[in-house]
Amino acid sequence: MANTHKAGCACGAVQLEITGDPTVQVYCHCSSCRGWLGAPIHAASLWPTPNVKVTKGADKLGLYKRTENSHRQFCTACGAPVLVGHPSFGMTDVPAGSIQGFTYRPTLHVHYGEKVMVVRDGLPKFKDLQKPQNVSAPVASTSWYVFTGGVHVGPPSADSARMVHA
Ligand SMILES: [Zn+2]
Ligand SMILES: [Zn+2]
Repeated sequence: MANTHKAGCACGAVQLEITGDPTVQVYCHCSSCRGWLGAPIHAASLWPTPNVKVTKGADKLGLYKRTENSHRQFCTACGAPVLVGHPSFGMTDVPAGSIQGFTYRPTLHVHYGEKVMVVRDGLPKFKDLQKPQNVSAPVASTSWYVFTGGVHVGPPSADSARMVHA
């Protein structure tokens, strides 16, 4: 039986059920994510969109389309961020801190050039995002990839100039 996780907003009006495992877990330091969450770092977990189901409170979900590829949804009762849809690549980001009992295992940092908090965890850190490349590779087979209004995808080793040593 597949893993199942429960997630949702702070007041409980909106609840999610997520099955399987996240495709990518990544810290994002961009100012847009920080502004959305009011937190110094966004702990993103990206799941195939069909794996993320709204089991309660779909009518309470507000929608803010930051871009056509970044659909932020939040609880209109308590204001908590619930998920971010990325229709261009079929993934849904659920902020990791809202997933009950979930052990977060990020593999890299992106937009580290915009950081407001230094992190020394030995993980790869990218100043921004990779340019799209190797997009023909199945997403699940890449060890990472990221999001934000645009898109991006590719193996980190392809562009070490963007790495930040921290
Ligand atoms: Zn709520
Ligand atoms: Zn971000």
